[in-house]
Amino acid sequence: MATDYLQITDVTVTFDGFVAVDKVNLTVLKGDLRFLIGPNGAGKTTLVDAVSGLVPSTGYVEFAGQQLSGRKVHRIARMGVGRTFQTATVFEKLTVVQNLDIAAGAGRGPLSLLRRRRGVPPTVAEALETIGLTELADTPAGILAHGQKQWLEIGMLLVQNAQLLLLDEPVAGMSADERDQTGRLLQRIAQERTVVIVEHDMDFMRAFAKSVTVLAAGKVLSEGTVAQVQADPKVQEVYLGT
Ligand code: ADP
Repeated sequence: MATDYLQITDVTVTFDGFVAVDKVNLTVLKGDLRFLIGPNGAGKTTLVDAVSGLVPSTGYVEFAGQQLSGRKVHRIARMGVGRTFQTATVFEKLTVVQNLDIAAGAGRGPLSLLRRRRGVPPTVAEALETIGLTELADTPAGILAHGQKQWLEIGMLLVQNAQLLLLDEPVAGMSADERDQTGRLLQRIAQERTVVIVEHDMDFMRAFAKSVTVLAAGKVLSEGTVAQVQADPKVQEVYLGT
């Protein structure tokens, strides 16, 4: 029985009267590799922003039994929710290992019961190994290839002990090879943690998704395995019918 999960209940986000996310309900079980797909403007990024506390929302969000809704961004991060953006936000002048060291420091708060329950975060050396950047440990992050910067950012979430990783188009701009490496990295991470990915790349989704939620016009249109959502006429309509 999966006990550790993300539960989004009736979440709505409004910008000046425009409803970007409209009473969304979504449950993600521990160990899932969930893809959020849908046409541009469907509300995917806004939903992830709402979960991570970046935009105000109504409704209720819970992760691993803790209420996230109504909490501040840094508090949500400390509760084990990590977020990346389309453009990697690493410290360009610092080396790979220095970036990880800083992230590890930032993740060290007072030892709460929860923190102990979540276990010990991987060391910087373990994270380097996981993201495949051991050889580049002393390289300034600014000169890394685009894909490597994304992996470093994911590594920074790992050493912070993030248990839920929210990733916004992690493979945008990557080569096919980098994309496959990223998919395998995320599969390894999802063996112990939970990953939710906003994605436009359908080939990447088909190759690596464990489950898929399709959003359209701020609402959940369809949900299930890749095969299930692909076979759903409602999904075919939003992708082909425009
Ligand atoms: P997606 O990620 O699915 O492409 P978004 O979540 O980025 O969609 O956007 C959903 C809708 O909300 C879009 O119509 C977008 O223009 C609007 N939107 C997003 N952020 C803001 C904002 N800060 N202010 C006003 N409208 C916004």
